[in-house]
Amino acid sequence: MRVFLGGIVTETNTFSPIPTGASEWEVVRSLDDAASGSSLLAVRDEAAARGDELIFGLSAFAMPAGIAVRRAYEDLLEELLAGVRAAMPLDAVILPLHGAMVADGEDDAEGDVIERVRTIVGDAAVIGVHIDLHCHLSERMLEHADAIVIYKEYPHTDMAERARELYRIVADTVAGRVQPTMAMVDCRMMGIYPTSAEPMRSFVDALTAAEDEPGVLSLSLGHGFPWGDVPDSGARMLAVTDGDAAAAERMATAWARRFYELRHTAGVRPLALDAALDRALEVRGSVDGPVVVADQADNAGGGAPADSTFVLRRLLERGVEGAAVALVWDPIVHHLARSAGTGARLQVRLGGKMGPTSGDPLDLDVTVVQLIDGLVQQWPQGDGVAYANPAGDAVHLRVHAMVGGPEVPGGVDVIVNTRRGQVLGLEPFTAFGIGMDPGRILVVKSTQHFYAAYGPVAGEVIYMAAPGAVAPIMEQIPLVRADLRKYPWVDDPWPEGEAG
Ligand SMILES: [Zn+2]
Repeated sequence: MRVFLGGIVTETNTFSPIPTGASEWEVVRSLDDAASGSSLLAVRDEAAARGDELIFGLSAFAMPAGIAVRRAYEDLLEELLAGVRAAMPLDAVILPLHGAMVADGEDDAEGDVIERVRTIVGDAAVIGVHIDLHCHLSERMLEHADAIVIYKEYPHTDMAERARELYRIVADTVAGRVQPTMAMVDCRMMGIYPTSAEPMRSFVDALTAAEDEPGVLSLSLGHGFPWGDVPDSGARMLAVTDGDAAAAERMATAWARRFYELRHTAGVRPLALDAALDRALEVRGSVDGPVVVADQADNAGGGAPADSTFVLRRLLERGVEGAAVALVWDPIVHHLARSAGTGARLQVRLGGKMGPTSGDPLDLDVTVVQLIDGLVQQWPQGDGVAYANPAGDAVHLRVHAMVGGPEVPGGVDVIVNTRRGQVLGLEPFTAFGIGMDPGRILVVKSTQHFYAAYGPVAGEVIYMAAPGAVAPIMEQIPLVRADLRKYPWVDDPWPEGEAG
């Protein structure tokens, strides 16, 4: 078959102070430039193995931030659509999208993308879409796509696997072997649901097993993205069957209901800042491996600036020894540290620059320990091929004290970088010689994606709700446009016996 591949990918935090403008987009126009371990290369390999003709348009990615600037979004979309037009006639289109992109004046950007591709290719071509589970799944997306497959794992360790799965459904559809039929049901919930812990682990395993039932092509749970304040936000169940609309509706409803029953137990209960540090200090002498503390509220992967100082300030005020923090986004401090050079001792004003959710900048007495240009994080994936993620240039600073404050024996290690992004691999520490030793406290700016790398080596993982741009407490998110007739705002918004 002749298939087109291309997409525009970002997750929009409608509260973020960082605009997603033209300069934020990183555009790949050749698959030779695609990151190892990415879903793009999975599709390329799948097409090659089948002898299909693959035409690649572009893949644009912007680190999650605020609402996409309309002009930049339209320019990228027009380039994508021009690629589709030029590639006609097509049997199929594969669109790797996110599902929670909001452009200025367009709440459902993915629905817009899919609809406009459909306008070009018509009903004869098959459109397959794979998206992140942090999506606002919409009726418009279902209307214009033939098949949608959503990641199942959080951390997202199954991106390439889901892309291959979608490809198979699309190829079978083109060949006339199946006829995907989709149904979606609102779960009336909003939250953060790591699949590394129960009860979500068993839920995902059961959902995956149910895909083996006759006539079922795919089952997906869209978790929703709580920091996207749009009417379509929230968790939704998606069922794709082979030509059986009633069965799709039945399965989507049954699995939505099953997920709904987990609403009081799914998701983590993060500790407040000082309680999290208390816990870390309490257990670090007795666990086999470092204590990993997730600064969930400053996760760049959810649109946060990654320059908040709340945790670092408390580590210094409390004189916590053996602690390290990564990754703090501060290109200016990185610039100064590089100018001063390895071994230099200087004062810097670190972080706290991006707004009230970043806290105040900290004036620090630091030593430049080591500089690494082009730091790359390897994010472990379920198929064994790590997903390579650039972190920009980075510096290891040893913070001795806040200026005018008492010195912390041994200092606190802080990794500062130039490319805003969350901690995904071990490299932000290990590349600088900070090992995964027992006794250490490693603070990672990440909500859950860190878990793929750190879960296996941590003595204990502590989820922390410090102040910040993506504070993981649903009731604290200043939602206005989202429909809040759902849990946790309402304890039982879907009473037993009420239809989906
Ligand atoms: Zn996600």
